[in-house]
Amino acid sequence: MLDLVDHVAALTEFKDREALDVGLAQTFMVLFKPLKVTLYSVLSDSNDRRWVPLTTMRPGHATESFSPLHADFRLLQPLKEAPPRWQCLDTGLFVEVESDPQGPGKFVTCLPLSSESGSEEGGVIEIHSQAGLTPQDHQIALRVLRVYRNMQNMFAYSERDALTGLLNRKSFEDTFYKSLRADALPGVDDPRGVPASQVAAVPLRRVESGEAFWLAMADVDHFKQVNDKYGHQIGDEVLILVARILKSTFRGYDRIYRFGGEEFVILLRCRDHATAIMILERFRAAMEKFLFPQAGHITACVGLSDIRSTDTPEAACQRADLAVYHAKRTGRNQVCSHADLERDGLLRDEVKVGGVELF
Ligand code: GH3
Ligand code: MG
Ligand code: MG
Repeated sequence: MLDLVDHVAALTEFKDREALDVGLAQTFMVLFKPLKVTLYSVLSDSNDRRWVPLTTMRPGHATESFSPLHADFRLLQPLKEAPPRWQCLDTGLFVEVESDPQGPGKFVTCLPLSSESGSEEGGVIEIHSQAGLTPQDHQIALRVLRVYRNMQNMFAYSERDALTGLLNRKSFEDTFYKSLRADALPGVDDPRGVPASQVAAVPLRRVESGEAFWLAMADVDHFKQVNDKYGHQIGDEVLILVARILKSTFRGYDRIYRFGGEEFVILLRCRDHATAIMILERFRAAMEKFLFPQAGHITACVGLSDIRSTDTPEAACQRADLAVYHAKRTGRNQVCSHADLERDGLLRDEVKVGGVELF
């Protein structure tokens, strides 16, 4: 009994989501002595949803952890290929099956990590064991999961923007540095053998799938006029709808932040500069096309920057910001890339005219 209380208390001491996930797997290992425990989350890419094994623990093995930020989507297991897990996610209910051809032990038991069944960003804890969970184990597991969920909700609340539900600026820095770490993999040198002095605009770091991280900044055009003309409440509604357009444009592993006001930042993962421009252009076009209730047509400017191995979040944001500034100065409703502007010698003008953060 005291043991259980200790474990529950320990769960409330974790400072971030990843540590809490490992803590939950550990608690299950100690309480139920299974042969394997894995926490899965769901990653979405357009209409496809797949499993990311966040943390796996087995007795006598090192803990394996995996970040969705770096996942090669094509290598992940599709939801339907793991029926017990899928059913658990779908119904939000405990699922136990007595045959497990793939794993250790005889039983596979799945419990939902999220309290909302079928939720977009849900997850499942999967337990492989020789005997399955007893009814008492099950009751204990449910209570431990309640604490876990409360903690996860608290983290989610502190890292999200209240108006749009997007990530807030506070959580940006951490993810930015993680995106750099992801690329510390073999084969990071520029494949074309370009001298280091000339590769500033070439992202050197690659995730598993050969992709790299890019930073985009989007700023709504003439947003002050929307507020002035229709009032702050309509302005807020526009921001909520812009967030929705952003969510539908980018992939599940891309991170979308509201940096405040009508300014958004996207940590984007894709193959190359041309692809990044194409994706951002899709967002720009979706904005231009969308008919906002009352406010009508509203456009946005987007600035793109690469992310460099020695970057700070501020330096990368400043480059993207310069590109947004150029877009504003030269007509609005457009996507501009810092690398292109640098190549064409257009950046000096931006600095001369007034630098960054003017809109
Ligand atoms: P530009 O095309 O140059 O970007 O012009 P702009 O009017 O969009 O830019 P500016 O920076 O002049 O105005 C941004 C406005 O955004 C000013 C501020 O009142 C408004 N704003 C900031 N935060 C919020 C918010 O949370 N809700 C609403 N409704 N308005 C906001
Ligand atoms: Mg603006
Ligand atoms: Mg602005």
